[in-house]
Amino acid sequence: MATLADLAREAHDCTRCPLAAGRTQVVFGVGDLDADLMFVGEGPGREEDLKGEPFVGRSGQLLDRLMVEEMGLTRDRCYIANVVKCRPPGNRDPLPEEIAACRPYLEQQVALIDPKVIVPLGNFATKFLLDTTEGITRLRGRVHPYGNRVIVPTYHPAAALRGGGEVLAKMRADFVRAKEQLRMVAA
Ligand code: URA
Repeated sequence: MATLADLAREAHDCTRCPLAAGRTQVVFGVGDLDADLMFVGEGPGREEDLKGEPFVGRSGQLLDRLMVEEMGLTRDRCYIANVVKCRPPGNRDPLPEEIAACRPYLEQQVALIDPKVIVPLGNFATKFLLDTTEGITRLRGRVHPYGNRVIVPTYHPAAALRGGGEVLAKMRADFVRAKEQLRMVAA
């Protein structure tokens, strides 16, 4: 199997889908390569595309806050990646063919980092990982076994920024749920 560095190099030269043509930078992933906890978002936005790092805009600030407040963790203690590594134009949803082209990167990131708890943020990441068409509202709020790992889905931070208190409260509960799973792994 390739190393994560090999994989990142490959992604940085990737032209497997049309998103390559519009990107400033490939946003491969960031964080602890040995992390027990991994967050998976949808795809880079404008600020991530410019900086080359996932979740550095408003959604990222909320993600960082929830990590600290509900889990006592900073982003350097986990790994953060997205379903697609290049920014969809105008922040549109990634297309099925773009997700399919990018699939091997995220699959190998999961295999190489080997996190014990994965928190998909929103519909795209949750459907990708759980291989289902069910929506996030039905899938969040519980722990899903995933081989030797668990998946604890939650809303995308952008949904909390749009939707306000109720979504945010549910996200907080999901982060606590993920933290409990981490504690069980460490025990
Ligand atoms: N939204 C995402 O899904 N990913 C990012 O990296 C930033 C915003």
